Amino acid sequence: MIPPAFDYHAPRTVDEAIALLGSLGSDAKLLAGGHSLLPMMKLRFAQPAHLIDINRIPELRGIREEGNEVVIGAMTVENELIASPLLQAKVPLLADAPKQIADPQVRNRGTIGGDIAHGDPGNDHPAISLALDATFDLQGPQGKRSVKAADFFLGTYTTALAEDEIMVAIRVPAFAPGTGWAYEKLKRKTGDWATAGAAVVLRLSGGSVSHVRIALTNLAPMAIRVPAAEAALLGQPLSAASIAAAAQAAQTAADPAEDLRGDIAYKTAMAGQMVKRAIQAAAARCS
Ligand SMILES: Cc1cc2nc3c(=O)[nH]c(=O)nc-3n(C[C@H](O)[C@H](O)[C@H](O)COP(=O)(O)OP(=O)(O)OC[C@H]3O[C@@H](n4cnc5c(N)ncnc54)[C@H](O)[C@@H]3O)c2cc1C
Repeated sequence: MIPPAFDYHAPRTVDEAIALLGSLGSDAKLLAGGHSLLPMMKLRFAQPAHLIDINRIPELRGIREEGNEVVIGAMTVENELIASPLLQAKVPLLADAPKQIADPQVRNRGTIGGDIAHGDPGNDHPAISLALDATFDLQGPQGKRSVKAADFFLGTYTTALAEDEIMVAIRVPAFAPGTGWAYEKLKRKTGDWATAGAAVVLRLSGGSVSHVRIALTNLAPMAIRVPAAEAALLGQPLSAASIAAAAQAAQTAADPAEDLRGDIAYKTAMAGQMVKRAIQAAAARCS
């Protein structure tokens, strides 16, 4: 309950925050919504000597359209995603799925950038960003670079972010008309992390699958996309057999850790079930 002592910094621009990261080094941590970092500090799993609060940086906020993409500031909180008319219209998966993240209080603080940067395989945004083919804009002392979600998640709590970088925005392509989508999350109760989760984005053309992306939550050391499950569907008419083949491929790809949410066999079976349900729900939304 009692976090260790730390110094507090509240920069007003991204450049100031990057300069602080550079001068304070690995003793410093960025503080976003604080709903993963502060719990870890209260249990003394993390003991940073400096917290750099990025809540007072306006350039990290806001949801806007740029060409065919929706650009979301990293400090956008979950409830802002849910309430965004732009996301509801252009990337409805990203407005709907956060309703399954944590609870109303946590969703008023927790940010999309923090959820992704944390690198927790239990978090929901990583798999959602893989299914959305998102791109993350990272800014460091040398300027900005963009990293695809597919190249970002390297392991448990390990990502492509360098110590002196800040995630500034998340960019997602707007859905083509008729795109189906779903996020199926098996959890023990509201506000719990997934026992197993699956994000699916799907398009049908002439009755066959013309586009599909499938990603899994909490079924491996990090969020993973499952190309073999996608290959089982792509170019095929959706049928019980092709959906079963995709679910089987997800089970083969799953590499879950045993914990209080279940053993490996149970979680692996649930990977298949979540993928099956998510494909069916996504297909029902296709037009
Ligand atoms: C009761 C409870 C239930 C929860 N349930 C869920 C759930 O079901 N699903 C889920 O996905 N999450 C869940 N969470 C986690 C919650 O969504 C967190 O808010 C989220 O994991 C981290 O976001 P944050 O903004 O709070 O980041 P913080 O806790 O402030 O930071 C997390 C980490 O990311 C780094 N970081 C943050 N922002 C940036 C940035 N812009 N650039 C670079 N690094 C950055 C920080 O330095 C820190 O290391 C839950 C939390 C609680 C307390």
